[in-house]
Amino acid sequence: MSIGGTTETETSKIADLVLVGGKVRTPTHPSGFAQAAAISGGVITAVGADEQIRDHVGPRTRVVNLRGRLAIPAFGDAHIHPVQGGLESLRCNLTGMRTRQEYLDAIAAYCAALPGDAWVLGGGWSMPGFPGGTPTAADLDTVTGGRPAFLPNRDHHSAWVNTAALTLAGITERSEDPVDGRIERDHAGVPTGALHEGAMHMVGNLVPAAGGEELTRGLLAAQQHLHSLGITNVQDALVGVAGGLGMPDVFGTYLRADADGQLTLRVTGSLWWDRFRGLGQIADLLTRREAAGIANRFRATTVKLMLDGVCETFTAAMGAPYLDGHGHPTDHAGSLFIDPAELSEAAAQLSGLGFQMHFHAIGDLAITVALDTLATLPAARRVSGRHHIAHLQFISPPDLDRFARLGVVANFQPLWACEDDQNTELTMPFVGPERAAWQYRIGAVLRRGARVAFGSDWPVSSADPLQEMHVAVNRVLSARLGEPGTPETTTPLLPDEAITVDAAIDAFTRGVAYVNHEEDAAGALAPGMLADVAVLDQDLYAIPAAEIGSTSVQLTIAAGQVVHGDE
Ligand SMILES: [Zn+2]
Repeated sequence: MSIGGTTETETSKIADLVLVGGKVRTPTHPSGFAQAAAISGGVITAVGADEQIRDHVGPRTRVVNLRGRLAIPAFGDAHIHPVQGGLESLRCNLTGMRTRQEYLDAIAAYCAALPGDAWVLGGGWSMPGFPGGTPTAADLDTVTGGRPAFLPNRDHHSAWVNTAALTLAGITERSEDPVDGRIERDHAGVPTGALHEGAMHMVGNLVPAAGGEELTRGLLAAQQHLHSLGITNVQDALVGVAGGLGMPDVFGTYLRADADGQLTLRVTGSLWWDRFRGLGQIADLLTRREAAGIANRFRATTVKLMLDGVCETFTAAMGAPYLDGHGHPTDHAGSLFIDPAELSEAAAQLSGLGFQMHFHAIGDLAITVALDTLATLPAARRVSGRHHIAHLQFISPPDLDRFARLGVVANFQPLWACEDDQNTELTMPFVGPERAAWQYRIGAVLRRGARVAFGSDWPVSSADPLQEMHVAVNRVLSARLGEPGTPETTTPLLPDEAITVDAAIDAFTRGVAYVNHEEDAAGALAPGMLADVAVLDQDLYAIPAAEIGSTSVQLTIAAGQVVHGDE
């Protein structure tokens, strides 16, 4: 059969989209790079020299001239909370501002368009903008017009609240601090408007839950934001009802967006393991996995098991006690959130049912328990599950070898591997020098042959893979994110743990594809693979490592569709 004079084979060679005149990262060429690529039906059909790919151009083919720029596989993110991040970006978004006046102006502008009875929600402020690092209710009262306000800071460890919120929560000078948090007070003991850690819940629990429509808007805002950062596939680290964490259940949000054809992001959902419900919840997890299906852009094939808390609040489960800040051991080492016996029974059943397990483990004890749990599974099931442990702040030396040996994926959030205040002031004094040197040992795990996948934990920290890669390679924050001249931008954290640019790209591309069981379909630019591409304004393979963080994504393609940037 012929169409307009061309044979069928020639027609099928005609591409929807071609990228020419660039530097295309590909495993199919010995140099690692080609000039051009052809895309058809959402899939890469050819990679090669410009003149070879020009053969694929027909009258309707869209031709993108890369003008020498680098094209790499689009990024993934192996641990992220997209809907939560999107919601925050739609609300009063204080990210990136620096002074008290900037914050107050932004909140006033936001309130001007807000109904009189609505909560003032959002957040993203950072401590250096305020005297002593803490903002006040009195300041906030001047711009919120009587509405209650709840504004978590950039790292979500503190919240700025106003008088209306303190009143609603019944927080007065007579209120005691909760065991896991602190109410900021003046010299007379009167609350001043900042709540730290567990004390945040005293107001956070009163915030009305977001409705379905708002959640959908949050998801779509997140999707656009992630595409603008070159991201096309993620693992949502928490789908379900997580009591106390204040996270909405986003399962239905994904299902609806997928059914409505609104998802261009591919999402693997980690279904929340409720530690108070025991093994009886497995039936519900199966129902959800089935409801999501496996053929769509949203799948729910993973279970999230949160084994401990975070070091800054002494809730990470450590093998030895925390120190008191003067170097003396306390009687407290954190504790496991899930009893090891229940965990091992859950792991046996979940892996037998074909679920992947995604562990949250920060303290060295929690990491050991996760590895011990996985070690009891039959080897074949261990590998086929692509089970992964996220965060991995303190890996004790004997555990370094076990990731490679057991086939467990190390899921790091590399942006945290720097000497920021959180680390030097809230972590290192309380763990001591030996354990401080166990932090985020990405290089050591990689050198031992383990698979590494990267994720952001957005909105806890930036979702920008280039900022995260900057830290993975340099072990300091880039000038775009850090305060210039501070230790976080000048003093590398454990420089031996730095990795190469190529290894960092790999962790964000093939590494995430592997975790999401997609490595045969995504994570590399080669014929037959999904056309997920990110085009960058700087060549990461040519610029000095110190400039990685000044790179931006100019074009993002998801399954052959341009989803960010316009050529
Ligand atoms: Zn998380």
